Parts: sequence; structure tokens; C-alpha cells
Amino acid sequence: MSKETEFYNYITTLPETTLSQVRGKPHEVLKLIDEYPQNFMNIGPHKGTQIVTRIKEKAPKTMIELGGYLGYSAVLFANEIADDPDAKYYSFELNPEFAKIATYVIDLAGLLDKVEIIVGRASYTLPAFRQRLFSENKHYTGLDFIFIDHWKDLYVPDLRVLESLNLIAPGTLIVADNIITPGAPEYVVYVNFSPDEKKLYNETTKNPEGKEFIGRWNILYDTKTIEVATANHKDAIEVTKCVDYFSG
Ligand code: SAM
Repeated sequence: MSKETEFYNYITTLPETTLSQVRGKPHEVLKLIDEYPQNFMNIGPHKGTQIVTRIKEKAPKTMIELGGYLGYSAVLFANEIADDPDAKYYSFELNPEFAKIATYVIDLAGLLDKVEIIVGRASYTLPAFRQRLFSENKHYTGLDFIFIDHWKDLYVPDLRVLESLNLIAPGTLIVADNIITPGAPEYVVYVNFSPDEKKLYNETTKNPEGKEFIGRWNILYDTKTIEVATANHKDAIEVTKCVDYFSG
């Protein structure tokens, strides 16, 4: 049995006295995951706090994450928009088993009305999601917040998907995890490209997530790698703002 399924069995069979102490309390639910004797590949409290600070500054309305896993980051970040009736968090998760566990975790935290889990490969589910956003809100111009935290070799291909679908626009804040450990060097290079470098890369590098998702060379990013040291390892998040479209 996988450690994730073991965790599901653990959390769903906790005594009602314990459940009633954590129900509707996002940070108490996260503590159950932090204190569980197995390590999970979630954002965790150190890097999570750094990202929460940026979410507080931005007060985003439409947030997405690529890679939902057990719902840890969804609970931590969607908690920041819990009181905003116009804000919503969309969690893209490939694995239906993980999505089932995340649904339970998010529900226990009292955030199921704020978070929608979209199951499937992000590059397959994003086009329909984009259609929905554009048809629900005629004035919609781009996502406010994107958390990239799925498989590292998909960071650049899926960023190109997001760019191609016009989901990234001036004002969009993108945070990517695991920049040092295990590392996402191609991603850091991509968000630092000049328009000319990006144009050349996009025209000469086929996107494995779909050749139609070439990317947008004229999107200008302002980006910074922020190191976050934890007790047992060093890692970094990449914080990237879409600042403008290059026009010259
Ligand atoms: N963001 C989560 C957190 O902090 O709690 C951790 C995400 S975990 C590092 C990576 C997740 O990405 C896994 O659950 C995996 O199934 C999912 N994943 C991998 N490739 C994906 C894809 N193409 N689309 C959506 N999810 C994907």
C-alpha cells in the first residue's frame, strides 16, 4: 500500500474527538500532515510561509496550482482567499487517487467551496478550463496567481501551455517550487530569457505537451530566485511576475 493511501486510511479513521478539533481549521489540518511520521512531497511550512506572504500582498482572485498531491498547498494558499467571495483556487492533479485524498483533506479544512480539483494531465485539462474562465467572465484578462509544483521536466512545457492559452498576462504572479532540490534549471533559464532568446527557443524547441503550445516570446517577466533553508535541506522558490508585453 502506498504511503499516501496509508495516510488516507489514517486520517479518515481518526476518532471523532480528534476530527472535531481540526474540522474547519486549515492550520490544524496541515499540522496533521506535518506531524504524520512519513515525509510527503508537499510545500511544507517554511517555503509555504514565503509564498503566503506574497499571496497576502497580491490578494489574488483566480489562483491555480499545477500539482495538487494531497491538498497541502491548496489548503495553505486557499485559506488566504477564504473570506473573498469572488476568489477561487483551482488545483490541477494528474493522479485520481491523490485527488481523492486531497478532496478529503480540503473538506476537513472547511475549504471545499474555495477549491476545485481538476483531475488529469494539466496540459490536457487547461484548454477547457481556459474556455470556462473566458466564457464565465467576459472581462477576464489572465490568472492572478500560479503555483507550479508538479514534475520538474514539465515546468517549462506547461508554462508554455499557460502562455499560449493567454492565461498569463501583466499582473500574473507565478511561483515555482523545488528550484534547487531536485532543481529546475531549465525553468530558471526560460523565465530569464530576453524576448529574442525566448523567440529563438520557442521556435526551435518542440513542446512535448503539444506542438501548438509554442509559448509567447513577447511576455516580459521580472523574476527572482528566493532561497529558503529548512532544517535538513536547502531549496528555493522562483517568484516571477509578468510585468508587460514586449512591443518594440
Ligand atoms: N503542491 C503540492 C503540495 O505542496 O501539497 C505537492 C505537489 S507534488 C510535488 C507533485 C504532484 O504533481 C503529484 O501529485 C503529481 O501527481 C502531480 N502531477 C505530475 N504531473 C502532473 C501533470 N502533468 N498535471 C497535473 N498534475 C501533475
